[in-house]
Amino acid sequence: MSALLEVDSVSVSFDGFKAINNLSFNIGAVELRAVIGPNGAGKTTFMDIVTGKTKPDAGRVLWGEDSRSLLKMNEAQIARAGVGRKFQRPTVFEDQSVSANLTMALKANRGPFGVLFWRPSATSAARVAELAEEVGLSEQIDRKAGELSHGQKQWLEIGMLLAQEPRLLLVDEPAAGMTLAEREQTTTLLRRLAETRAVVVVEHDMDFVRRLECKVTVLHQGSVLAEGSLDHVTRNPDVIEVYLGR
Ligand code: ADP
Repeated sequence: MSALLEVDSVSVSFDGFKAINNLSFNIGAVELRAVIGPNGAGKTTFMDIVTGKTKPDAGRVLWGEDSRSLLKMNEAQIARAGVGRKFQRPTVFEDQSVSANLTMALKANRGPFGVLFWRPSATSAARVAELAEEVGLSEQIDRKAGELSHGQKQWLEIGMLLAQEPRLLLVDEPAAGMTLAEREQTTTLLRRLAETRAVVVVEHDMDFVRRLECKVTVLHQGSVLAEGSLDHVTRNPDVIEVYLGR
């Protein structure tokens, strides 16, 4: 199986400090992956590279069946190519209904710095309903986003990202601040989304990662320290040292 995204021997320095050091990472077109690692491991910088926010000093980032270089594209082009990113903090329009938020997402293309560009293609109420259903918000479709719980806002934002039909979703700490029930629903949602696309979950919370039951990539000092099932990587002495040592 060929990879949807291939990050090959990538390095990035900030003022001489190697935030990403010869990092290689592949994900298939239909796959759920958790990326974990201590603070400063390079997780955010890794996502910045994939979305085009940060350009590496060395290495390759290849995308799709024809292995196009993402390094030649800007953030807007990468988003249009099918890379969606969910930041930790939800950025929904609080005074608008769930359906209005989803409608806006369907009409808009997100450009660099999150700027929205209107897209002429028509949106359908059916598609809005479908998106709401996909993220478990059918019953909330007429409610104002500001009235939703924290977890529901996060799901709404995922729905808004789905409107762009990403082939790869990068999700930053999706379960942070959620109730137990919301975390369980988020696990189910992410696992279902990964049945038809690639989903990378960057996460600190090991309990949540365990629930995802997926392959795990451990980053440390800008490189991949270990990769495999959670049980496999947590038995790795280097991983134990990084998490529990010192
Ligand atoms: P993580 O998300 O895993 O906590 P980051 O990718 O944010 O890690 O950071 C990796 C390392 O790179 C850290 O040591 C951080 O201080 C450094 N770093 C990240 N961005 C910058 C920047 N813009 N300028 C200088 N150093 C940075």
